Amino acid sequence: MHRDCIAIRLRLPGLVVLGVKETARWIEVTAQYERREGVCPRCERSTWQVHQWRLQRKRDAKLWGKEVWLALFKRRFHCRRCGKVFTEPDPVCGPRRRTTQRLRSTVARRAREGTVRSVAREEGVSEGLVERSWVEAYAMVAAPSQPHVFLGLDGFCVRRPGRMWTGMWDLESGKAVAVVPGERQADVERMLERHASRESVRAVVIDLSEAYRQALELVLPEVAIVADKFHVLALAGRALHEVRGETRRPGNLAWLLQRGAEKLNQAARARLLQARSADPRLARAWGLKEALREVYRKKGWEEAAAALANWIEEAERSDLRPFRRTAATLRRWQQEVLNYWRYPLTNALVEGKHNRIKALKRRGYGYRNNR
Ligand SMILES: [Zn+2]
Repeated sequence: MHRDCIAIRLRLPGLVVLGVKETARWIEVTAQYERREGVCPRCERSTWQVHQWRLQRKRDAKLWGKEVWLALFKRRFHCRRCGKVFTEPDPVCGPRRRTTQRLRSTVARRAREGTVRSVAREEGVSEGLVERSWVEAYAMVAAPSQPHVFLGLDGFCVRRPGRMWTGMWDLESGKAVAVVPGERQADVERMLERHASRESVRAVVIDLSEAYRQALELVLPEVAIVADKFHVLALAGRALHEVRGETRRPGNLAWLLQRGAEKLNQAARARLLQARSADPRLARAWGLKEALREVYRKKGWEEAAAALANWIEEAERSDLRPFRRTAATLRRWQQEVLNYWRYPLTNALVEGKHNRIKALKRRGYGYRNNR
């Protein structure tokens, strides 16, 4: 009964469970594949003739908090027609893998939420396995059902702190197109060459990364590059934080300063006003942060262009070095920032991406059906 229960819980398709050993810390399941014949990879003839058996130990996802090991008996077939000896396929684990597909997708899913380190510790596997599983799960590229028109590129890290990765998303479907290690220009160029076609892609939303921009200008010279709105606004948030270096905690002054003015209640507004009148430098920094948010409320490109140019000049003239630096950055990215008014797209979460795309289509902004 218990043994059947484990077999059911494991959901290992195509496997027959031969035995189960269980201790306080681990469970070992001995199994073999149900099928009795193999198809020769060379001549495609079916064969029943087993040349030999091999026992392989594979790691599976935890069950009831216990480590699960799969002791898998695999057949080596001998083809009677052409003489080839071959191992039966292993869809539960994949070719030459020491772990089950299920373990890898479990840790990959959990690595989206937690850190690589914590997932590795909880599952009792190496950090390398978690990282590779994550890439295996999310870098898998499905052939697009229609050509990509709007893409997003952004950098992120799987392991904190750790190496950076670059993800490319289709902003219409909200799905990953490709994920590659690295964020250098060469990494991104290779990715674009493989997955983005000059004929169909019209706009690409990116972080303010010089490497991304240069890769795009080289591989997709016609495409509109859009600086991601949230990355632009984050620049002003960081500059404000530098002017007043205090860690943000719910309700404290640093938190009040970063929050959108319209989201504050009356008491919070009063506190903020008091803090600003006590510290004119802080007041100017806060004003610049809010003014940049105001730029994004402009309705059309021309209005936005004027507001952004004003903002840059004002920040350049200010006595606040972090904002002068932000102004210099935005001067270099002015065109890409303003492309947002031609293509109001961002790399925000999938749900948000969908709404943006809908809004874009409704407004008929630069969208054309390519088929
Ligand atoms: Zn054969």
